[in-house]
Amino acid sequence: MLKRISQYLFRKPEVIGLDNYLVLVFCFFISILGILGTLINIVLNLGLFTILSTIIPGVIFTPIYFYSRTKQKYLVSKYVIIILSLILLDIQWFINYGSTGPILYLFVVVESFIIIFFSNPEKYIFTIVVFINVTVLFFIEYHYPGTIGHYSNNSVRLLDLYWGLLIYLSISILLLHIALKFYISQQEKAQLADKLKSSFLANMSHEIRTPMNGILGFSELLKEPNLTGEQQQSYISIIEKSGERMLNIINNIIDISKIESGLMNLDIKLSNINEQIDYIHSFFKPEVEKKGVELYIKKSLPSREAIVKTDPEKLFAILMNLVKNAIKYTDKGSIELGYNKKTERENVELEFYVKDTGIGIPKERQEAIFERFIQADITDKSAYQGAGLGLSISKAYIEMLAGKVRVESIPGKGSVFYFTIPYKTETNEKTIAGNVAPGVEIKDINKELKILIVEDDQPSEILITREVKLFCKDVLVVRNGADAIETCRNYPDIDLILMDIKMPGINGYEATRQIRIFNKNVVIIAQTAFALSGDRDKSLEAGCNDYISKPINRIALRSLIQKYVKFKV
Ligand code: ADP
Repeated sequence: MLKRISQYLFRKPEVIGLDNYLVLVFCFFISILGILGTLINIVLNLGLFTILSTIIPGVIFTPIYFYSRTKQKYLVSKYVIIILSLILLDIQWFINYGSTGPILYLFVVVESFIIIFFSNPEKYIFTIVVFINVTVLFFIEYHYPGTIGHYSNNSVRLLDLYWGLLIYLSISILLLHIALKFYISQQEKAQLADKLKSSFLANMSHEIRTPMNGILGFSELLKEPNLTGEQQQSYISIIEKSGERMLNIINNIIDISKIESGLMNLDIKLSNINEQIDYIHSFFKPEVEKKGVELYIKKSLPSREAIVKTDPEKLFAILMNLVKNAIKYTDKGSIELGYNKKTERENVELEFYVKDTGIGIPKERQEAIFERFIQADITDKSAYQGAGLGLSISKAYIEMLAGKVRVESIPGKGSVFYFTIPYKTETNEKTIAGNVAPGVEIKDINKELKILIVEDDQPSEILITREVKLFCKDVLVVRNGADAIETCRNYPDIDLILMDIKMPGINGYEATRQIRIFNKNVVIIAQTAFALSGDRDKSLEAGCNDYISKPINRIALRSLIQKYVKFKV
């Protein structure tokens, strides 16, 4: 309760800085003391001067507090506090027997406050002000001793000085203690961040070099003559796997930097979660079976109620990642993927879970695994292959979807990852397919199709041509934007163009714009290796119908073409 009030009233020193935090604390306590003191003085019917002595600080410091808290501007408040403190101390100097009394100590407290909590040049300016102020006070006392009172006897003076010293010491110790604690924690944080950054880089380098090693090494081996067909197939499959692993890391790095820079946007539409779960089930089934592990799914809503408004691609990425991890860390037993509808304080939500009987996660690591870079600590012996970014990306996505994630796990027994998303439906709308619509069935595409491939990179062109030749009659290939426009003019019967974006001369966007001037009907699908936010929008703006990122996934390409081109069933 106290912690909550303190959080609301003061905000965290880590967020606003220790000096600003202390300004709030200082103003708050003086305001409270002023208000309470005034009430007590009025109730006790004390004299006007006494009442004024509490009203004035209350009246001055309450607005300063609210001004600083709401406007988040602390510098003005700091100036006001120092100047007011000096004025109050000056008055006290005369009332409390000048240099023979305890006020000098309090000037030292104000000076410590200035040294610790002001940065240059304010620190120097205020130090000079305090110095001049005290000099003037001594000067007045020296030349006009009558302005200062005298203690009635020596023991009263000693007692007064003694109390003054105690107050000075306790305030100074408190101030220095708070400052020291804060600076030590900041330093520790910086050291930790530094250590994590270097272990993250070392891990990244390892994660990228390992698949590269696989790709280059086995490509070299493939060159050897007299390889059996079986050997060739096994080398190729290693190259393929290494490529996938590398792509996964690159995608993760791009995603995490998009999240960090706030460029990751949501694309909310209707999506059938049962279809996503079915897709994931069929996608991972062969891999899981190979490991000798069972993969179960549980869909607790009938299909028509399973259409929810969310960002399907993000949800899909989260589920894929959790299941991938479950498979990675489970060698025997089973994995279950499912969801339940829950009502949490009037909010209806879906709670997804991925349960495994794998190695489990020790209690002290259960929070850290969601932090980016934390699990990249290479000293961690339990880390398997992986950059340690998957869970932090998933957590960021879940939070973007207004959900929460948690894990329950017992080392050696297994783990259950839970996450929620709000259950929003719109039963009259239909599922809108995304770029890679999970669960789309590949149908036999019309063999009469004529496709133009615009691609300047030869390996990419060979790959795409081979793929589309499987279901097209005519495949035309050009290497640049100008030729693409020309070919389009000469062959108005082209059904679809696969347009590379980054090309020398006229790029893909420009070529699309020019083609659209004379041909509004041809389907144009942009293909690029950038995979960055904004590419999709830019392609659509230029006149493309859709967008696919490289390396092109065969299934995704087929389903995308299917989405736009009529085909015989
Ligand atoms: P990684 O690519 O290293 O798997 P993640 O962010 O996906 O990165 O996971 C972070 C860490 O969390 C892993 O290194 C692993 O120690 C732990 N972890 C994640 N999922 C599981 C699981 N299902 N069972 C056991 N440990 C897990």
